[in-house]
Amino acid sequence: MPTESSSKPQARQRVVSGMRPTGALHLGHFHGVLKNWVRLQTMHDCFFFVADWHALTTQYRDKQDRSQIEGNVYDMVIDWLAAGVDPEKATLFIQSRMPEHAELFTLLAMSTPTAWLERIPGYKSQADKGRGVDTYGLLGYPLLQAADILIYKGDHVPVGEDQAAHVELTREVARRFNHVYSPADPILPEPRELLTSNSRLTGLDGRKMSKSAGNAIAMRDAPTIVAGKIRTMQTDPQRVRLHDAGEPARCPVWPLHQVYSDPLTLDWIEQGCRSAGIGCLECKQPLIESIHKEQQPWRERADEYLAKPKQVQWIVEMGTERARVVARKTLREVRSAMGLAY
Ligand code: SF4
Repeated sequence: MPTESSSKPQARQRVVSGMRPTGALHLGHFHGVLKNWVRLQTMHDCFFFVADWHALTTQYRDKQDRSQIEGNVYDMVIDWLAAGVDPEKATLFIQSRMPEHAELFTLLAMSTPTAWLERIPGYKSQADKGRGVDTYGLLGYPLLQAADILIYKGDHVPVGEDQAAHVELTREVARRFNHVYSPADPILPEPRELLTSNSRLTGLDGRKMSKSAGNAIAMRDAPTIVAGKIRTMQTDPQRVRLHDAGEPARCPVWPLHQVYSDPLTLDWIEQGCRSAGIGCLECKQPLIESIHKEQQPWRERADEYLAKPKQVQWIVEMGTERARVVARKTLREVRSAMGLAY
């Protein structure tokens, strides 16, 4: 696994990462992605973008959906800022405001074999499910992703293990481009995946937390909503009455405690649950309190931005212009290598 200290001096290393606009984010997004972004922005030159074109490959096809894109984009950016992503440290922008990505995507397409896209696991799983890939956008999105990264000459891409194939494709695309158009002086560096300890938070039903599964706690859910969601969570199905001994390993509340509770609390739960010494509501209370505590600074920061929506737009505008300077420089080099500098 690559480390964060390869190829360039640390201060100049660049990290590129995007997120589809799904609207308000939940605790799973914070623990799986944003916590990591907040850490990375202190060490690297980070480019974080709203991947709205990518969202269009599978969502927003009906009119009602489309009317929600803009709101979802800004709700998500507010959650980034609430989580502590700092526009002074990281460059935040919107993919669709950067036609430069689309140009590089088109130019990279000239040297990328179709078969490389067909073997990407996402494409294969769609095909295996018999759904097929019905649009060119869906087939081509891994190449667009490669363009998103290569246009900033990203050194690192934070990914979970299931996305490593996409970074591998990006490397192959860069290698092929360099080989075909600029063998003596490679233009596009090959990025490395930054495999992170990507804690997958479980949701209210014990499955992976996701908005579509309806098992999520939003980052900005009000305290009363959080308390209500946790108090009504299912527990160990074999613990029907208070005096039944339970087993944390069978209980969906337990994985959340493992993220949010300290070792002393975890001991107290294990013993109390197995001996029927504590009730489930009693067990859930410290979890509710820990989530409230985690949310408090998010809520305060988000309230400031919600009161000044123009400031959020300005942050994105500034980030978009900063990103454009870098993207245009790469495009000039690419166009020149391809004989298009006229
Ligand atoms: S005591 Fe806690 S861990 Fe045990 S079943 Fe109840 S909620 Fe789950």
